[in-house]
Amino acid sequence: MITNKSKREIDLMRKAGWIVAKTLEIVEPHIKPGVSTYELDKICEEAILSYDATPSFKGYQGFSGSICTSVNEVLVHGIPSKEKILQEGDIITIDVGANYKGYHGDGAWTFAVGEVSDDAKKLMQVTHDALYKGLEVAKAEVYIGDVSHAIGSYIKQFGYGIPMEYTGHGIGRNLHEDPPVFNDGQPNRGVLLKEGMTICIEPMVHIGKPFTKVLSDNWTVISKDKSLTAHYEHTIVITKDGCEILTTTRQEESLIG
Ligand code: MG
Repeated sequence: MITNKSKREIDLMRKAGWIVAKTLEIVEPHIKPGVSTYELDKICEEAILSYDATPSFKGYQGFSGSICTSVNEVLVHGIPSKEKILQEGDIITIDVGANYKGYHGDGAWTFAVGEVSDDAKKLMQVTHDALYKGLEVAKAEVYIGDVSHAIGSYIKQFGYGIPMEYTGHGIGRNLHEDPPVFNDGQPNRGVLLKEGMTICIEPMVHIGKPFTKVLSDNWTVISKDKSLTAHYEHTIVITKDGCEILTTTRQEESLIG
């Protein structure tokens, strides 16, 4: 069900989003060659708990981590592991969810491990900028297809693959709610955005072809051609004139439009 949140609900989600962003800030300096994704998971879990929230992903449909750690060709849902040690030149997406007093925030960021290739840098920049192309369009009385179109048409200019089976989503009392937010689509289609709707916009991009594969652990999603992938996500609330990013610690940069 798609719901427009009350002021009280949005205040709680603003706190949940702040905790997500703060957790990403706390973990970032630890993302270095030699660290395991398990260690990053523990740092994030401790941070989330320290702000009186719980990790949204832990136990979600049986997921064992507090965060998702998706390295290189892993697009999403990488499981933190003591065996997965980051290497110079890797790129890693950390996806964090926090449940604060029954409301979720969800955000992801792709980070470079040491010095990375120019191809990796470009993929990260384009995927990041695609998120902001979507955010710039999102506002009340705009169709969700307009947001999808802004994201997809930007990414496709670079010849990158957009895996359409993974999407953004509504969020609130549940981590995943309607509507899906596709990373490509037609303008003037889909749900009409309304003030107070809370959604996650999250472009996921392959440097190669758009096809994906789920590994035998039933979680890890990789690009089928094993090409590099990137993923950036913000939770936002739709406003009359634009949107407000909830997954940020920088209040002054949160309003778009
Ligand atoms: Mg999400």
